[in-house]
Amino acid sequence: MRKTVVAGNWKMNKTPAQTTELINELKPLVAGSENKCIVCVPYTNLANALEAVRGTEIEVGAQNMYFEESGAYTGEIAPNMLTEMGVKYVIIGHSERRQYFNETDETVNKKVLKAFEHDLIPIICVGESLEQREQGITFELVALQTKIALLGLTADQVKKCIIAYEPIWAIGTGKTATSEQAQEVCAKIRETVASVYGNDAAEEIIIQYGGSVNAGNSAELFAKSDIDGGLVGGASLKANDFSVIVNS
Ligand code: PEP
Repeated sequence: MRKTVVAGNWKMNKTPAQTTELINELKPLVAGSENKCIVCVPYTNLANALEAVRGTEIEVGAQNMYFEESGAYTGEIAPNMLTEMGVKYVIIGHSERRQYFNETDETVNKKVLKAFEHDLIPIICVGESLEQREQGITFELVALQTKIALLGLTADQVKKCIIAYEPIWAIGTGKTATSEQAQEVCAKIRETVASVYGNDAAEEIIIQYGGSVNAGNSAELFAKSDIDGGLVGGASLKANDFSVIVNS
């Protein structure tokens, strides 16, 4: 039985002090939840987030990392900088990084491989644009993104991954995919994982849906058989709304 995993992607929002405040508000609201709650905060807020979640079940993730160990990469963050702090998760290949920062399927794969070298769990984002959906290539595209992202991993590593299916047209737009649309693509991702890494890996991997998830639609989405939780942007910035989603 897979656990429901809900991760908040705060994007470029909140200062360190605001991070402490928001997590302190969130803590009592998600205490005792059967579902896993992760907050992915900006790099500068990681220390505050880790301090604020101490003694709770809430986990902390970063929103990106680089695929090299160290060196002349101004402005980048290496995986051991995250792990030494106590960070356990890292979002890789969010569509905003693909769109604005030239992230490609190949760099996503390099980052996923590097994450595993450091025991970081990647939350790998895949998803189609509206144009691609209208062209009828959603399944092929998402399957290919998934295969490339996971290239070179063992089946045991794949079992530990989280894949977030995030249709680009639904991110930050208030336009959620219907639970049927989200389910059929998440099922396709699971089928793709099964075809390459076997049924055990496909049964264990966590597949989230992301794209305008809110307190009103999360329960229906997470009830679908292949949707194991969500990656949540806007609604993760409000403790009340995010706690309802986490507890869905
Ligand atoms: C996201 O940032 O991954 C996301 C899904 O954002 P939103 O929930 O705001 O659509």
